[in-house]
Amino acid sequence: MQKLSLIVPCYNEEEALPVFYDELEKVLSSLEDYEAEILFIDDGSKDGTLKTLKSLAEQDERVKYISFSRNFGKEAAMYAGFCNATGDLVAVMDADMQDPPSLLPQMLEIIQGDEVDSVATRRVTRKGEPKIRSFFARRFYKLMAKVSDVDVVDGARDFRLMKRKMVDAIVSMGETNRFSKGIFGWIGFKTHWLEYENVERVAGQSKWSFWKLFKYSMEGITNFSDAPLKIASWSGIFFTFIAIIAMLVVFIRALAFGDAVAGWPSTICIILFVGGIQLFCLGMIGQYISKIFRETKKRPIYIVSESNKEDFK
Ligand code: UDP
Ligand code: MG
Repeated sequence: MQKLSLIVPCYNEEEALPVFYDELEKVLSSLEDYEAEILFIDDGSKDGTLKTLKSLAEQDERVKYISFSRNFGKEAAMYAGFCNATGDLVAVMDADMQDPPSLLPQMLEIIQGDEVDSVATRRVTRKGEPKIRSFFARRFYKLMAKVSDVDVVDGARDFRLMKRKMVDAIVSMGETNRFSKGIFGWIGFKTHWLEYENVERVAGQSKWSFWKLFKYSMEGITNFSDAPLKIASWSGIFFTFIAIIAMLVVFIRALAFGDAVAGWPSTICIILFVGGIQLFCLGMIGQYISKIFRETKKRPIYIVSESNKEDFK
């Protein structure tokens, strides 16, 4: 019998958890060929999430929870899940039912064929999501496809079922700056994409504000691409070239017509413009340096405060 681990990151999900658990329970009872483990990661929730998890664990011995000392973010929660999952097959899913548990049987069926190592999901619609958010999300995926060396699929969810070897590969990528969509693409393996319509969350609220998503997308780009650094060097080369031409023009003009002091405003404009570009490029380099800084400190990605697993990592 194969063991199936389900990783569920939870941050303030006390309202959604009971609904999610009931639904998952139904799906799992239809999967008789698998031994299940449900690994809830409480990402420093401020509501009754941990209490709910404890009572679930009392009723059901398949339920394991790991509770963080504070909110470390979904990326950290997923990593904790991967490190602690013991299954032959491992899936990550959200607690808000936006990753429908009802897709699991189909995903399991697909992965049992030898051709694929993972079954991933992508939503083909973004129904129910704010328009402006969808617009920027689409742009982000387009840009990411251009500048990075991994493919990040538009509409891809983190909801994914994987074989052990893939999980081991993810665990081995212990970087502090984490962007799972990029990591999944980077490690490779054969992936089957399952498409479904967007589902709205059952209860509670999305933890992603527009600003948070924007920062996350920047993280994605700078983690998996050095294109911004190239922009910095290319614009440097471009402006040097312009400057050489301008110098020649000024020099020749001075020889031919003598030097009349004119064009002061345009000089100021150029100085300001080039100064701006320089600061922008410095800032971009700074982004990478700050990542190196965080990475070299080798701080743990998450800190566990309590768990009902004896040998949690
Ligand atoms: N989540 C988490 N830590 C966070 C934010 C979110 O573990 O800091 C979890 C959350 O509980 C949920 C999943 O990540 O299970 C997805 O979050 P959410 O539904 O808010 O994101 P959205 O679906 O809106 O992208
Ligand atoms: Mg959600």
